[in-house]
Amino acid sequence: MLKTVDAFDRIGEENAFAVLARATKLASEGRDIVNLGIGQPDFPTPPHVVEAAIKALRDGHHGYTPATGILPLRVAVSKDLNRRFGVEVDPDLVMIMPGGKVTMYAAILLFGEPGVDILYPDPGFPIYRSMIEFTGANPIPVPIREENGFAFSAEETLSLITPKTRLLIINSPANPTGGVTPKAEIEKLVKGLERFPDVAIMSDEIYDQLIFDGLEHQTLLAFPEIRDRLILLNGWSKTYAMTGWRLGWSVWPKTLYDKVRKLAVNAWSCVNAPTQYAGIAALEGPQDAVEHMRAEFDKRRKLVTEGLNALPGVRAATPKGAFYAFPNVAETGWKAKPLASALLEDAGVAVIGGPDFGVLGEGYIRLSYANSAENITRALERMGRFLTERKAA
Ligand code: PLP
Repeated sequence: MLKTVDAFDRIGEENAFAVLARATKLASEGRDIVNLGIGQPDFPTPPHVVEAAIKALRDGHHGYTPATGILPLRVAVSKDLNRRFGVEVDPDLVMIMPGGKVTMYAAILLFGEPGVDILYPDPGFPIYRSMIEFTGANPIPVPIREENGFAFSAEETLSLITPKTRLLIINSPANPTGGVTPKAEIEKLVKGLERFPDVAIMSDEIYDQLIFDGLEHQTLLAFPEIRDRLILLNGWSKTYAMTGWRLGWSVWPKTLYDKVRKLAVNAWSCVNAPTQYAGIAALEGPQDAVEHMRAEFDKRRKLVTEGLNALPGVRAATPKGAFYAFPNVAETGWKAKPLASALLEDAGVAVIGGPDFGVLGEGYIRLSYANSAENITRALERMGRFLTERKAA
């Protein structure tokens, strides 16, 4: 019998991928499935970005690049941050990653080991907890509550920090809830963190451009007092509809940068060269596609929220960011996971059960509204029919 290390028995998954596989299989068998499961824009990557990658290939960019990413791309990230937030970021502290996920992988590997605590949002992106458990560290959930508009509470977060805490993960705008934590709460958290100088912070800001109702994104990069312990996660996947390209970026403190560079050298060498050129075109080219997607998501957000609130037993807060709705389904009488699975199998609507995002996700389901208004309307009709006709299993 092959013996693998125990850590691999603790590694988790992202159930959105399993639901996508099941939905694709049902569709291939001729079933009509509306997929509100997976979190990826339903728009194509902007054409000028695609062209930049093709040009890079034609120009002969076929080889390895520096493990940290090509300098013009790191400079483009730094300028983009300056343009959007007025912050100064040294391009030599920017790391180009094969997707946003890899930053959390690196950050959690850097701090996680048995005996230490890592705080993460619950409900939250499932890979945080999975990776924390992989390292053997204790996963400490920070509750994200509907009654708080799915924002995190600075006070509650700070109250969970102990001498064992090494890393705090925060995410706003958030998956799976669509919650956006108000600026004042973020300022309060940063102020409180002064008392815990040995705690690193990983701020997952991958949805920073998908924010609505005139709200402005508050980046953690705006606080010089925590820069020496801040890891900023971001990337192209959601903003530029580039999930399949696998391109992300992060900003690291000087003291950690070289460790991550070495991890890259050992694990993935670099991101493929043409994709990095596409990344420059995305940041430096016209931003109208980003504007267009945000405006479309905004319309669908209203459609989905209104539609959900009209369903029997369903209550949905209006999401403020990202492209997810996280309705409370407790009063339908269904547990969230059996409901998600029955909606897919019997009603042809793919959604994700809240418990796939943490124990506090019970009573909720996640719908990605990165789908056409027409499909969202069809999904809501099917859900309405299903909830009226079917009693909880
Ligand atoms: N962080 C959050 C909160 C996400 O929802 C996702 C993707 O769903 C990621 C990070 C990972 O993004 P990427 O596809 O670039 O790895």
